[in-house]
Amino acid sequence: MNGYDGILNNDILIKSLKTAVRSSRISHAYIFDGEKGIGKTTLARAFAKTLNCEEGGEVSCGRCSSCRTFDDNNNPDIIYISEEKNIKVDTVRDSINAAVMTKPFSYKYKIFIIKDADTMNLQAQNAFLKTLEEPPSFVVFLLLCQNFNKFLPTILSRCILFKLRPLPQPMLRQYLTDRWFSQGRAEMLSHYAQGIVGRALELDTDENFAALSQLAFDLGADIKKWDIKQLFDKSAAILKDHKDDIDTILKLMYYIFRDALIYKTTNDTQHLIHTTELDRLDAICAQFDSRQLMKACDALEFARNRIVSNGDLQYIVEELFYKIKEK
Ligand SMILES: [Zn+2]
Repeated sequence: MNGYDGILNNDILIKSLKTAVRSSRISHAYIFDGEKGIGKTTLARAFAKTLNCEEGGEVSCGRCSSCRTFDDNNNPDIIYISEEKNIKVDTVRDSINAAVMTKPFSYKYKIFIIKDADTMNLQAQNAFLKTLEEPPSFVVFLLLCQNFNKFLPTILSRCILFKLRPLPQPMLRQYLTDRWFSQGRAEMLSHYAQGIVGRALELDTDENFAALSQLAFDLGADIKKWDIKQLFDKSAAILKDHKDDIDTILKLMYYIFRDALIYKTTNDTQHLIHTTELDRLDAICAQFDSRQLMKACDALEFARNRIVSNGDLQYIVEELFYKIKEK
């Protein structure tokens, strides 16, 4: 990739990076902040490639020696720092502080792309600060993180902070249909991924998400048939087996009941999220009238809010299922 073509909905940010290159005002350190899967690495790579491009334009040329070695993942002056858990003080000392002492091998800048930089503990950040206070002129740090607030103020004040924005749902849907996704699949994934491209791609192959989706449909179709004992048993079983996924299950159920409501009242599939599951929506529509579907959506939204405010999980789930069943 040359330039920033694949990076959507972050035009202001990209404009700032281009301006910095054009006016040769490159900072020693940038923070790219945003959720996992939002495109921080893609953006950092595009910027790093541009910085070392021998043509010196505001976007990389793709032809020069630097760009070609970059595309082969072989550019000696672009250094990736990433660790499984957190970035340790030894890594900062050995792979960053020691490495900045030597000049770039071949190109203009020595660029460090530090993934999950906000996982540095206090000791690691203090070690990093030593370099950041007086960096050699040829060094650029690109710090990628999910929560820039974890950095010491002394680090933040020496960096230019950019926050990446998620995509609006229609833009993410379009992104997915422009690739290999069917309309229905793109609709569903774009709703659940909340504007994060990487999350949409991950959800697509996430077996746990697929299983939770099936579970949510099963719950929606069965709940009316339960007696009270089954209701308590099912609630307990879900909390036992899926405690960490409760929010996802309720969110799936919310969108399923929302779809059922739209489908029942309009018989139109255009605004549905689960367009590939019409049979399963039919099974729910057959058991609930539109008022009950609306009440179920309200109850699901209410339950999710109560989970956020740390209510008693067991009680919330039992009450929710009771409301959907009885109303
Ligand atoms: Zn180039």
